[in-house]
Amino acid sequence: MRIAWALVLLLMGHLVLANWSGHAQDTWPQLTMLAVQGMAVWIVFLRFRRSTPLIKLPWLLLALAAMMQVLWAATNLLTTILGDKGGYLTAIGVVISGLYMIPAMFMVARSFGQHEPRAVVVLDLILSCLVAALLYQLVTQLLSGPLASNPSSIYVVIYHADAVDFSLAAMAILRMFGARSFRWRYFYYAASTYLLVNAIVAAVYNRVELRGLPWWAGSMVDIPYVLLILVILRKPPRFLRAYHPSLGVSQTIASFSPIMLSMMILMLGISVSRISFIPGVLAACVSVLFYGLRVAFIQSRHLDMQRAIDLSTWRLEQQVSRDPLTGIANRAMLDKRLRDALEEGQRSGGYCSLLMIDIDFFKQYNDSLGHVAGDACLIKVACALSSSQLRLHDLVARYGGEEFAVVLADTPPDAAREVARRLISSIERLQIIHPVCAPGHVTVSVGIATQTHETALDPRVLLDEADRALYRAKSNGRNRYEVAVHMLQGSQVELPDAGRANDALPH
Ligand code: GH3
Ligand code: MG
Ligand code: MG
Repeated sequence: MRIAWALVLLLMGHLVLANWSGHAQDTWPQLTMLAVQGMAVWIVFLRFRRSTPLIKLPWLLLALAAMMQVLWAATNLLTTILGDKGGYLTAIGVVISGLYMIPAMFMVARSFGQHEPRAVVVLDLILSCLVAALLYQLVTQLLSGPLASNPSSIYVVIYHADAVDFSLAAMAILRMFGARSFRWRYFYYAASTYLLVNAIVAAVYNRVELRGLPWWAGSMVDIPYVLLILVILRKPPRFLRAYHPSLGVSQTIASFSPIMLSMMILMLGISVSRISFIPGVLAACVSVLFYGLRVAFIQSRHLDMQRAIDLSTWRLEQQVSRDPLTGIANRAMLDKRLRDALEEGQRSGGYCSLLMIDIDFFKQYNDSLGHVAGDACLIKVACALSSSQLRLHDLVARYGGEEFAVVLADTPPDAAREVARRLISSIERLQIIHPVCAPGHVTVSVGIATQTHETALDPRVLLDEADRALYRAKSNGRNRYEVAVHMLQGSQVELPDAGRANDALPH
């Protein structure tokens, strides 16, 4: 509130002093204008200090842009007080007005993406500096030297200044509508208010100045700064909170903004090339080249990121589908592969087989040797099962506890029996000492089920059949395999099937 009163006093003071001195560019009116501008810079600087780290840089750039305008006004004041015999102060003024472009351009044209390569930031900075340099070149060429005598030169300068100022404002407004977070929308709201009003005031001021400045004209320059202060101090308007652009709109605007830099250089380059051909053409070429480089840098960063995402997705898939203890496929993977094999079997007629494998007397193993030894045993068994010369597309999985399952795609019952024999023998060969089990070492029992044309595509059906066969293998003496009942009926083999461990395994 106190600041609002101070502003009102300064504005009134500016008008009164300008009216009293009768000239807009007298020392006292200019001093009051400097005070208003300085106040705006200070308020924006405070906003920068209070901002969260992500949005600090844009606020700082806005403060710097306003600061350049203050410095420009200060050199004008010095010119009034000291006079400018060598034209040095005027030249410094032109340089500073060009420097204003750097933070202003950088602020509206940068996409401020967190994952942007540093090279892109450097390119944007160079392009912003180039805009300032081209503007400086254009203004000095047209307002001093042989072209200064041409009455249309001043209009060319004014039109270029208008084009640049209104483009900055338009970009800031566009960015406001493209910002997804309220903080960014609020920043661009403040920046676009300042840039738009500044562009309008500058356009009017420059035209009024051509016919001789009236005493009140200097007060117009206060308006963008007063509005900037009010925007920052007052509550943000409701539409800023209510408005939410879609992700597509926001990304399109953010990706489009940097084109503005290259476009501006291209256009300034064309303008400058009419006065100094080589620098103008060079600038135009640089704008195209740098834009190409910018796109190349960003694309290569995106490719890197895509590669990293692919790798972490692959790792995640591995983690999700692997059993943490044994490292082989887990239940989820088993279900998926079994469903695929069943569907493929149904489609092609190459029916799949499923083996359910259970370690015999594993509870006793744990009880006598401890769970750590039990875990080590599970790992050895899993390892032996998966290295038992299975085909690449067969799957060994841990079903749960001390139970494993093997999916054999396109495998008839005979071949499945053969695999079961091999697996039982590979576990026997491990010779893991089992203090309680009769053979003296760890053995497994296996239940076999093979898909038929009647088998449902639900994996649970085949799992259930194999599990029942496994139960029979257990009750028939363990360390052996049994096949599912429907297979026995189908193949007219008498019960029990010849799946004893002793039959299957040489001793
Ligand atoms: P059977 O011959 O009839 O299969 O008898 P079993 O003792 O092997 O079967 P039971 O179902 O009675 O016991 C299974 C045991 O497996 C009980 C449990 O402590 C053990 N077990 C299950 N998961 C793990 C594991 O991850 N680590 C260890 N160490 N033991 C496990
Ligand atoms: Mg079990
Ligand atoms: Mg068991």
